Amino acid sequence: MSDSVFDDAVARLTRIGEMTGCSSQVINALSHPNAMMHVNVEVRMDDGHIHYFPGYRCQHNHVLGPTKGGIRFHPDVDAAEVQALALWMTLKCAVVNLPFGGAKGGVSVDPKALSPMELERLSRAYVRAMADFIGPERDIPAPDVYTNALIMGWMMDEYEKITRVKNPAVITGKPIALGGSLGRDDATGRGAYLCIKELQKRDCLTPEETTVAVQGFGNGGYHVARLLAEDGYKVVAVSDSQGGIYRSEGLDIKSVYQQKQEHKELKAIYCDGSVCETREHDTLSNDELLTLDVDILIPAALDSVITTDNANGIKARYLVEIANGPVTSDADAILKDKGIIVIPDILANAGGVTVSYFEWVQNRTGYRWDKDKVRDELHTVMSNAFNQANELVQNKGLDFRDAVYAVALTRLSEGIEAHGTPDYFNGG
Ligand code: NAD
Repeated sequence: MSDSVFDDAVARLTRIGEMTGCSSQVINALSHPNAMMHVNVEVRMDDGHIHYFPGYRCQHNHVLGPTKGGIRFHPDVDAAEVQALALWMTLKCAVVNLPFGGAKGGVSVDPKALSPMELERLSRAYVRAMADFIGPERDIPAPDVYTNALIMGWMMDEYEKITRVKNPAVITGKPIALGGSLGRDDATGRGAYLCIKELQKRDCLTPEETTVAVQGFGNGGYHVARLLAEDGYKVVAVSDSQGGIYRSEGLDIKSVYQQKQEHKELKAIYCDGSVCETREHDTLSNDELLTLDVDILIPAALDSVITTDNANGIKARYLVEIANGPVTSDADAILKDKGIIVIPDILANAGGVTVSYFEWVQNRTGYRWDKDKVRDELHTVMSNAFNQANELVQNKGLDFRDAVYAVALTRLSEGIEAHGTPDYFNGG
Protein backbone atom coordinates (compact mmCIF):
# COMPACT_ATOMS: atom_id res chain seq x y z
CA MET A 1 0.00 0.00 0.00
CA SER A 2 1.18 3.58 -0.64
CA ASP A 3 2.26 5.98 2.11
CA SER A 4 -1.17 7.36 2.92
CA VAL A 5 -4.77 6.49 2.24
CA PHE A 6 -4.93 9.49 -0.14
CA ASP A 7 -1.87 8.27 -2.10
CA ASP A 8 -3.52 4.86 -2.25
CA ALA A 9 -6.77 6.38 -3.56
CA VAL A 10 -4.82 8.31 -6.23
CA ALA A 11 -2.87 5.15 -7.17
CA ARG A 12 -6.13 3.29 -7.83
CA LEU A 13 -7.64 6.25 -9.72
CA THR A 14 -4.51 6.48 -11.90
CA ARG A 15 -4.39 2.75 -12.63
CA ILE A 16 -8.06 2.55 -13.62
CA GLY A 17 -8.01 5.93 -15.41
CA GLU A 18 -5.06 4.94 -17.59
CA MET A 19 -6.55 1.52 -18.27
CA THR A 20 -9.93 2.94 -19.36
CA GLY A 21 -8.47 5.67 -21.59
CA CYS A 22 -9.06 8.69 -19.34
CA SER A 23 -6.82 11.66 -20.27
CA SER A 24 -3.82 12.57 -18.14
CA GLN A 25 -5.34 16.08 -17.74
CA VAL A 26 -8.37 14.56 -16.01
CA ILE A 27 -6.34 12.18 -13.82
CA ASN A 28 -4.10 15.10 -12.85
CA ALA A 29 -7.11 17.30 -11.98
CA LEU A 30 -8.60 14.60 -9.76
CA SER A 31 -5.26 13.95 -8.05
CA HIS A 32 -5.19 17.55 -6.75
CA PRO A 33 -7.97 18.52 -4.29
CA ASN A 34 -9.35 22.01 -5.02
CA ALA A 35 -9.15 23.28 -1.45
CA MET A 36 -8.24 22.09 2.02
CA MET A 37 -9.07 23.89 5.26
CA HIS A 38 -7.24 22.93 8.46
CA VAL A 39 -8.44 24.53 11.70
CA ASN A 40 -8.00 24.00 15.41
CA VAL A 41 -11.50 23.68 16.81
CA GLU A 42 -11.59 25.50 20.14
CA VAL A 43 -13.86 23.92 22.75
CA ARG A 44 -14.32 24.78 26.43
CA MET A 45 -14.46 21.46 28.23
CA ASP A 46 -16.73 20.75 31.20
CA ASP A 47 -13.84 21.19 33.66
CA GLY A 48 -13.26 24.76 32.39
CA HIS A 49 -10.11 24.30 30.31
CA ILE A 50 -9.99 25.01 26.57
CA HIS A 51 -9.05 22.14 24.26
CA TYR A 52 -8.02 22.45 20.60
CA PHE A 53 -9.13 19.61 18.30
CA PRO A 54 -7.59 19.38 14.79
CA GLY A 55 -10.41 19.87 12.28
CA TYR A 56 -10.40 19.50 8.50
CA ARG A 57 -12.58 20.09 5.47
CA CYS A 58 -11.49 19.15 1.98
CA GLN A 59 -13.38 20.31 -1.13
CA HIS A 60 -12.02 17.90 -3.65
CA ASN A 61 -13.51 18.92 -6.99
CA HIS A 62 -16.14 21.54 -7.94
CA VAL A 63 -16.51 20.80 -11.65
CA LEU A 64 -19.93 19.12 -11.52
CA GLY A 65 -21.45 21.28 -8.76
CA PRO A 66 -21.12 22.40 -5.16
CA THR A 67 -19.19 19.89 -3.09
CA LYS A 68 -20.85 17.39 -0.78
CA GLY A 69 -19.58 15.03 1.89
CA GLY A 70 -19.85 13.97 5.51
CA ILE A 71 -18.15 15.08 8.70
CA ARG A 72 -16.42 12.35 10.73
CA PHE A 73 -15.59 12.52 14.44
CA HIS A 74 -12.88 9.90 15.07
CA PRO A 75 -9.42 9.81 16.69
CA ASP A 76 -7.79 8.60 13.42
CA VAL A 77 -9.04 11.52 11.30
CA ASP A 78 -6.16 13.31 9.56
CA ALA A 79 -5.59 15.40 6.43
CA ALA A 80 -4.79 12.42 4.19
CA GLU A 81 -7.89 10.48 5.23
CA VAL A 82 -10.16 13.49 4.69
CA GLN A 83 -8.67 14.07 1.21
CA ALA A 84 -9.09 10.41 0.23
CA LEU A 85 -12.70 10.40 1.43
CA ALA A 86 -13.34 13.65 -0.50
CA LEU A 87 -11.89 12.15 -3.70
CA TRP A 88 -14.18 9.12 -3.32
CA MET A 89 -17.13 11.52 -2.85
CA THR A 90 -16.31 13.22 -6.18
CA LEU A 91 -16.30 9.82 -7.91
CA LYS A 92 -19.41 8.64 -6.05
CA CYS A 93 -21.51 11.70 -6.96
CA ALA A 94 -20.44 11.23 -10.59
CA VAL A 95 -21.34 7.49 -10.60
CA VAL A 96 -24.91 8.22 -9.54
CA ASN A 97 -25.05 11.39 -11.67
CA LEU A 98 -25.69 13.94 -8.91
CA PRO A 99 -24.94 17.63 -9.59
CA PHE A 100 -22.26 17.67 -6.88
CA GLY A 101 -18.52 17.44 -6.48
CA GLY A 102 -16.93 15.68 -3.54
CA ALA A 103 -15.92 16.95 -0.10
CA LYS A 104 -15.26 15.53 3.35
CA GLY A 105 -14.67 16.91 6.81
CA GLY A 106 -13.59 15.59 10.12
CA VAL A 107 -12.32 16.24 13.61
CA SER A 108 -9.63 14.21 15.29
CA VAL A 109 -11.45 13.40 18.52
CA ASP A 110 -12.75 10.45 20.50
CA PRO A 111 -16.42 11.47 20.69
CA LYS A 112 -17.15 8.70 23.22
CA ALA A 113 -14.89 10.55 25.70
CA LEU A 114 -16.95 13.77 25.47
CA SER A 115 -19.97 14.71 27.57
CA PRO A 116 -23.15 15.53 25.61
CA MET A 117 -22.55 19.26 26.19
CA GLU A 118 -18.92 19.03 25.06
CA LEU A 119 -20.13 17.23 21.91
CA GLU A 120 -22.60 20.04 21.20
CA ARG A 121 -19.92 22.72 21.78
CA LEU A 122 -17.50 20.85 19.48
CA SER A 123 -20.12 20.54 16.72
CA ARG A 124 -21.02 24.22 16.88
CA ALA A 125 -17.36 25.30 17.11
CA TYR A 126 -16.53 23.26 13.98
CA VAL A 127 -19.20 25.16 12.04
CA ARG A 128 -17.99 28.54 13.39
CA ALA A 129 -14.51 27.67 12.15
CA MET A 130 -15.80 26.54 8.73
CA ALA A 131 -18.71 28.97 8.21
CA ASP A 132 -17.02 30.88 5.36
CA PHE A 133 -15.95 27.67 3.65
CA ILE A 134 -19.29 25.81 3.54
CA GLY A 135 -22.74 26.88 2.26
CA PRO A 136 -25.80 25.50 0.43
CA GLU A 137 -24.36 26.50 -2.95
CA ARG A 138 -20.72 25.96 -2.05
CA ASP A 139 -20.13 22.88 0.12
CA ILE A 140 -22.81 20.87 1.92
CA PRO A 141 -21.79 18.62 4.86
CA ALA A 142 -23.64 15.52 6.14
CA PRO A 143 -23.13 12.81 8.80
CA ASP A 144 -20.37 10.22 8.68
CA VAL A 145 -18.73 7.92 11.24
CA TYR A 146 -19.76 8.92 14.78
CA THR A 147 -21.83 11.93 13.69
CA ASN A 148 -25.61 11.80 13.39
CA ALA A 149 -28.83 13.73 12.83
CA LEU A 150 -28.67 15.44 16.23
CA ILE A 151 -25.19 16.79 15.42
CA MET A 152 -26.34 17.91 11.94
CA GLY A 153 -29.20 19.81 13.62
CA TRP A 154 -26.75 21.65 15.93
CA MET A 155 -24.52 22.45 12.98
CA MET A 156 -27.38 23.82 10.87
CA ASP A 157 -28.56 25.93 13.83
CA GLU A 158 -25.07 27.40 14.34
CA TYR A 159 -24.76 28.22 10.63
CA GLU A 160 -28.16 29.94 10.66
CA LYS A 161 -27.16 31.98 13.73
CA ILE A 162 -24.02 33.15 11.92
CA THR A 163 -25.75 33.98 8.63
CA ARG A 164 -29.02 35.17 10.25
CA VAL A 165 -31.00 33.37 7.53
CA LYS A 166 -32.97 30.11 7.69
CA ASN A 167 -30.87 27.86 5.54
CA PRO A 168 -31.60 24.15 6.05
CA ALA A 169 -29.97 23.23 2.71
CA VAL A 170 -26.54 23.99 4.21
CA ILE A 171 -26.37 20.48 5.67
CA THR A 172 -28.13 17.15 5.13
CA GLY A 173 -28.91 14.19 7.35
CA LYS A 174 -30.81 16.51 9.72
CA PRO A 175 -33.66 15.45 12.03
CA ILE A 176 -36.94 15.24 10.07
CA ALA A 177 -38.42 18.02 12.24
CA LEU A 178 -35.64 20.37 11.12
CA GLY A 179 -35.90 19.67 7.39
CA GLY A 180 -34.39 16.20 7.13
CA SER A 181 -35.68 13.83 4.47
CA LEU A 182 -37.80 10.78 5.11
CA GLY A 183 -35.83 7.70 4.09
CA ARG A 184 -32.38 9.18 4.86
CA ASP A 185 -31.92 6.94 7.93
CA ASP A 186 -31.65 3.66 5.99
CA ALA A 187 -30.56 5.10 2.61
CA THR A 188 -26.98 3.83 2.66
CA GLY A 189 -27.92 0.27 3.59
CA ARG A 190 -30.83 0.37 1.14
CA GLY A 191 -28.55 1.51 -1.68
CA ALA A 192 -26.26 -1.47 -1.08
CA TYR A 193 -29.30 -3.74 -0.83
CA LEU A 194 -30.56 -2.45 -4.20
CA CYS A 195 -27.16 -3.30 -5.75
CA ILE A 196 -27.48 -6.83 -4.36
CA LYS A 197 -31.02 -7.10 -5.78
CA GLU A 198 -29.57 -6.19 -9.20
CA LEU A 199 -26.94 -8.90 -8.76
CA GLN A 200 -29.72 -11.31 -7.75
CA LYS A 201 -31.49 -10.61 -11.06
CA ARG A 202 -28.30 -10.75 -13.11
CA ASP A 203 -26.85 -13.92 -11.56
CA CYS A 204 -30.16 -15.66 -10.65
CA LEU A 205 -29.36 -15.80 -6.92
CA THR A 206 -31.82 -17.55 -4.62
CA PRO A 207 -32.00 -15.51 -1.38
CA GLU A 208 -32.71 -18.55 0.85
CA GLU A 209 -29.54 -20.24 -0.43
CA THR A 210 -27.34 -17.15 -0.24
CA THR A 211 -25.29 -16.50 2.89
CA VAL A 212 -24.14 -13.05 4.00
CA ALA A 213 -21.62 -11.72 6.55
CA VAL A 214 -21.58 -8.05 7.57
CA GLN A 215 -18.67 -6.35 9.32
CA GLY A 216 -19.96 -3.34 11.28
CA PHE A 217 -23.47 -3.16 12.67
CA GLY A 218 -24.02 0.61 12.57
CA ASN A 219 -26.20 2.65 10.25
CA GLY A 220 -24.97 1.09 6.99
CA GLY A 221 -24.38 -2.47 8.23
CA TYR A 222 -27.59 -2.86 10.21
CA HIS A 223 -29.95 -1.67 7.49
CA VAL A 224 -28.43 -3.76 4.70
CA ALA A 225 -28.51 -6.83 6.98
CA ARG A 226 -32.13 -6.13 7.93
CA LEU A 227 -33.32 -5.61 4.35
CA LEU A 228 -31.53 -8.73 3.09
CA ALA A 229 -32.88 -10.83 5.99
CA GLU A 230 -36.41 -9.54 5.25
CA ASP A 231 -35.97 -10.84 1.69
CA GLY A 232 -34.95 -14.30 2.91
CA TYR A 233 -31.15 -14.00 2.63
CA LYS A 234 -29.30 -15.92 5.32
CA VAL A 235 -27.32 -13.33 7.26
CA VAL A 236 -25.04 -15.67 9.20
CA ALA A 237 -22.59 -13.22 10.79
CA VAL A 238 -22.47 -9.61 11.98
CA SER A 239 -19.89 -7.74 14.05
CA ASP A 240 -19.17 -4.48 15.82
CA SER A 241 -15.94 -3.02 17.20
CA GLN A 242 -15.91 -5.69 19.96
CA GLY A 243 -16.11 -8.70 17.57
CA GLY A 244 -18.77 -10.75 15.84
CA ILE A 245 -21.35 -13.52 16.13
CA TYR A 246 -21.97 -16.42 13.73
CA ARG A 247 -24.95 -18.77 13.36
CA SER A 248 -25.05 -21.05 10.32
CA GLU A 249 -28.89 -21.10 10.24
CA GLY A 250 -28.92 -17.29 9.99
CA LEU A 251 -29.48 -14.53 12.54
CA ASP A 252 -32.72 -12.75 13.41
CA ILE A 253 -31.34 -9.33 12.54
CA LYS A 254 -34.04 -7.15 14.10
CA SER A 255 -33.75 -9.04 17.40
CA VAL A 256 -29.94 -8.83 17.36
CA TYR A 257 -30.26 -5.08 16.79
CA GLN A 258 -32.81 -4.69 19.59
CA GLN A 259 -30.44 -6.56 21.93
CA LYS A 260 -27.49 -4.39 20.83
CA GLN A 261 -29.48 -1.19 21.48
CA GLU A 262 -30.60 -2.33 24.92
CA HIS A 263 -27.49 -4.14 26.20
CA LYS A 264 -24.70 -2.78 23.96
CA GLU A 265 -23.61 -6.30 22.95
CA LEU A 266 -24.15 -8.63 20.01
CA LYS A 267 -25.93 -11.93 20.71
CA ALA A 268 -27.81 -14.37 18.46
CA ILE A 269 -31.21 -13.79 19.95
CA TYR A 270 -34.80 -14.18 18.85
CA CYS A 271 -37.32 -11.75 20.34
CA ASP A 272 -41.09 -11.88 20.22
CA GLY A 273 -41.95 -8.42 21.55
CA SER A 274 -40.01 -7.98 24.77
CA VAL A 275 -39.57 -11.75 25.31
CA CYS A 276 -36.17 -12.80 23.98
CA GLU A 277 -34.47 -16.20 23.76
CA THR A 278 -30.77 -16.66 23.10
CA ARG A 279 -29.95 -19.00 20.20
CA GLU A 280 -26.85 -21.14 19.92
CA HIS A 281 -24.08 -19.28 18.13
CA ASP A 282 -20.32 -18.90 17.82
CA THR A 283 -18.34 -15.77 18.47
CA LEU A 284 -15.61 -14.67 16.09
CA SER A 285 -13.11 -11.88 15.61
CA ASN A 286 -13.46 -9.20 12.96
CA ASP A 287 -10.56 -10.75 11.04
CA GLU A 288 -12.24 -14.18 11.10
CA LEU A 289 -15.50 -12.69 9.84
CA LEU A 290 -13.75 -11.39 6.71
CA THR A 291 -12.56 -14.86 5.73
CA LEU A 292 -15.83 -16.73 6.38
CA ASP A 293 -17.04 -19.07 3.68
CA VAL A 294 -20.10 -17.01 2.68
CA ASP A 295 -21.57 -15.89 -0.64
CA ILE A 296 -21.69 -12.16 0.10
CA LEU A 297 -19.24 -10.28 2.32
CA ILE A 298 -20.15 -6.71 3.30
CA PRO A 299 -17.47 -4.66 5.04
CA ALA A 300 -19.43 -1.82 6.67
CA ALA A 301 -17.07 -0.42 9.28
CA LEU A 302 -13.56 0.85 8.56
CA ASP A 303 -11.22 1.45 5.65
CA SER A 304 -8.23 -0.75 4.72
CA VAL A 305 -9.48 -3.96 6.39
CA ILE A 306 -8.72 -6.09 3.30
CA THR A 307 -5.07 -5.85 2.29
CA THR A 308 -2.46 -8.01 0.55
CA ASP A 309 -2.09 -9.79 3.93
CA ASN A 310 -5.59 -11.27 4.03
CA ALA A 311 -7.03 -10.87 0.48
CA ASN A 312 -6.01 -14.41 -0.44
CA GLY A 313 -8.12 -15.72 2.43
CA ILE A 314 -11.37 -14.09 1.27
CA LYS A 315 -13.79 -16.84 0.25
CA ALA A 316 -16.90 -14.81 -0.59
CA ARG A 317 -18.13 -14.70 -4.17
CA TYR A 318 -19.29 -11.08 -3.89
CA LEU A 319 -17.79 -8.26 -1.87
CA VAL A 320 -20.12 -5.28 -1.41
CA GLU A 321 -18.27 -2.28 0.03
CA ILE A 322 -20.43 -0.18 2.33
CA ALA A 323 -17.40 1.15 4.20
CA ASN A 324 -15.35 3.69 2.29
CA GLY A 325 -12.08 2.17 1.11
CA PRO A 326 -12.24 -1.22 2.87
CA VAL A 327 -9.88 -2.78 0.27
CA THR A 328 -6.41 -1.30 -0.31
CA SER A 329 -5.58 -0.73 -3.99
CA ASP A 330 -2.79 -3.30 -4.04
CA ALA A 331 -5.25 -5.99 -2.94
CA ASP A 332 -7.54 -5.35 -5.97
CA ALA A 333 -5.54 -7.66 -8.25
CA ILE A 334 -5.65 -10.54 -5.73
CA LEU A 335 -9.44 -10.33 -5.45
CA LYS A 336 -9.75 -10.11 -9.24
CA ASP A 337 -7.56 -13.21 -9.72
CA LYS A 338 -9.76 -15.08 -7.29
CA GLY A 339 -12.81 -14.12 -9.38
CA ILE A 340 -14.44 -12.16 -6.55
CA ILE A 341 -16.97 -9.63 -7.82
CA VAL A 342 -16.45 -6.35 -5.97
CA ILE A 343 -19.25 -3.79 -5.91
CA PRO A 344 -17.09 -0.81 -4.99
CA ASP A 345 -17.84 1.75 -2.28
CA ILE A 346 -18.44 4.57 -4.76
CA LEU A 347 -21.51 2.67 -5.99
CA ALA A 348 -22.46 0.37 -3.09
CA ASN A 349 -22.70 3.13 -0.47
CA ALA A 350 -23.98 5.89 -2.78
CA GLY A 351 -27.55 5.57 -1.45
CA GLY A 352 -26.64 7.89 1.45
CA VAL A 353 -25.48 10.82 -0.66
CA THR A 354 -28.33 10.24 -3.10
CA VAL A 355 -30.98 10.73 -0.42
CA SER A 356 -28.91 13.62 0.97
CA TYR A 357 -29.27 15.16 -2.50
CA PHE A 358 -33.05 14.60 -2.29
CA GLU A 359 -33.02 16.35 1.11
CA TRP A 360 -31.14 19.35 -0.38
CA VAL A 361 -33.64 19.50 -3.27
CA GLN A 362 -36.58 19.42 -0.83
CA ASN A 363 -35.02 22.17 1.34
CA ARG A 364 -34.40 24.38 -1.68
CA THR A 365 -37.89 23.95 -3.13
CA GLY A 366 -39.68 24.03 0.22
CA TYR A 367 -41.63 20.88 -0.70
CA ARG A 368 -41.48 17.62 1.26
CA TRP A 369 -41.46 14.23 -0.43
CA ASP A 370 -43.15 11.20 1.11
CA LYS A 371 -41.16 8.05 1.90
CA ASP A 372 -42.42 6.17 -1.17
CA LYS A 373 -41.22 8.91 -3.50
CA VAL A 374 -37.77 8.93 -1.82
CA ARG A 375 -37.51 5.14 -2.12
CA ASP A 376 -38.73 5.05 -5.73
CA GLU A 377 -36.27 7.76 -6.79
CA LEU A 378 -33.43 6.03 -4.93
CA HIS A 379 -34.30 2.77 -6.66
CA THR A 380 -34.15 4.48 -10.07
CA VAL A 381 -30.80 6.16 -9.35
CA MET A 382 -29.15 3.01 -7.98
CA SER A 383 -30.38 0.65 -10.67
CA ASN A 384 -29.39 3.09 -13.47
CA ALA A 385 -25.87 3.38 -12.03
CA PHE A 386 -25.57 -0.39 -11.50
CA ASN A 387 -26.75 -1.15 -15.02
CA GLN A 388 -24.48 1.42 -16.67
CA ALA A 389 -21.49 -0.22 -14.97
CA ASN A 390 -22.81 -3.71 -15.67
CA GLU A 391 -23.01 -2.91 -19.37
CA LEU A 392 -19.27 -2.18 -19.36
CA VAL A 393 -18.68 -5.42 -17.45
CA GLN A 394 -20.66 -7.41 -20.01
CA ASN A 395 -19.51 -5.61 -23.18
CA LYS A 396 -15.99 -4.42 -22.44
CA GLY A 397 -14.84 -7.18 -20.12
CA LEU A 398 -14.05 -4.77 -17.27
CA ASP A 399 -14.32 -5.98 -13.69
CA PHE A 400 -17.02 -4.29 -11.65
CA ARG A 401 -14.75 -1.85 -9.79
CA ASP A 402 -13.09 -0.71 -13.00
CA ALA A 403 -16.47 -0.37 -14.73
CA VAL A 404 -17.91 1.80 -11.94
CA TYR A 405 -14.80 4.01 -11.99
CA ALA A 406 -15.12 4.26 -15.79
CA VAL A 407 -18.72 5.52 -15.45
CA ALA A 408 -17.58 8.20 -12.97
CA LEU A 409 -14.50 9.18 -14.96
CA THR A 410 -16.49 9.57 -18.17
CA ARG A 411 -18.82 12.11 -16.51
CA LEU A 412 -15.97 13.94 -14.81
CA SER A 413 -13.97 14.00 -18.05
CA GLU A 414 -16.91 15.57 -19.90
CA GLY A 415 -17.09 18.30 -17.22
CA ILE A 416 -13.35 18.95 -17.05
CA GLU A 417 -12.87 18.84 -20.82
CA ALA A 418 -15.82 21.19 -21.42
CA HIS A 419 -13.46 23.93 -20.22
CA GLY A 420 -10.98 22.97 -22.94
CA THR A 421 -8.50 20.18 -23.64
CA PRO A 422 -4.73 20.65 -24.16
CA ASP A 423 -5.36 19.90 -27.89
CA TYR A 424 -7.87 22.74 -28.14
CA PHE A 425 -5.44 25.25 -26.60
CA ASN A 426 -2.68 24.00 -28.92
CA GLY A 427 -4.88 24.68 -31.92
CA GLY A 428 -5.74 20.97 -32.41
P1 NAD B 1 -21.69 3.86 12.34
O1 NAD B 1 -20.88 4.72 13.24
O2 NAD B 1 -23.17 3.94 12.38
O3 NAD B 1 -21.31 2.30 12.56
C1 NAD B 1 -20.01 1.85 12.51
C2 NAD B 1 -20.02 0.39 12.95
O4 NAD B 1 -18.71 -0.14 12.82
C3 NAD B 1 -20.41 0.20 14.41
O5 NAD B 1 -21.20 -0.98 14.52
C4 NAD B 1 -19.07 -0.02 15.10
O6 NAD B 1 -19.18 -0.81 16.28
C5 NAD B 1 -18.35 -0.80 14.02
N1 NAD B 1 -16.90 -0.76 14.18
C6 NAD B 1 -16.11 0.23 14.63
N2 NAD B 1 -14.83 -0.18 14.67
C7 NAD B 1 -14.83 -1.45 14.20
C8 NAD B 1 -13.83 -2.43 13.99
N3 NAD B 1 -12.57 -2.17 14.27
N4 NAD B 1 -14.19 -3.62 13.47
C9 NAD B 1 -15.48 -3.89 13.19
N5 NAD B 1 -16.47 -3.03 13.38
C10 NAD B 1 -16.15 -1.83 13.88
O7 NAD B 1 -21.12 4.16 10.90
P2 NAD B 1 -21.84 3.99 9.49
O8 NAD B 1 -22.53 5.26 9.19
O9 NAD B 1 -22.58 2.69 9.43
O10 NAD B 1 -20.55 3.94 8.55
C11 NAD B 1 -19.83 2.73 8.36
C12 NAD B 1 -18.98 2.86 7.12
O11 NAD B 1 -19.84 3.17 6.03
C13 NAD B 1 -17.94 3.99 7.15
O12 NAD B 1 -16.81 3.60 6.41
C14 NAD B 1 -18.65 5.14 6.45
O13 NAD B 1 -17.72 6.05 5.88
C15 NAD B 1 -19.40 4.36 5.40
N6 NAD B 1 -20.53 5.12 4.87
C16 NAD B 1 -21.59 5.45 5.66
C17 NAD B 1 -22.62 6.20 5.11
C18 NAD B 1 -23.84 6.59 5.91
O14 NAD B 1 -24.71 7.28 5.37
N7 NAD B 1 -23.97 6.13 7.15
C19 NAD B 1 -22.58 6.60 3.77
C20 NAD B 1 -21.49 6.22 2.99
C21 NAD B 1 -20.47 5.48 3.56
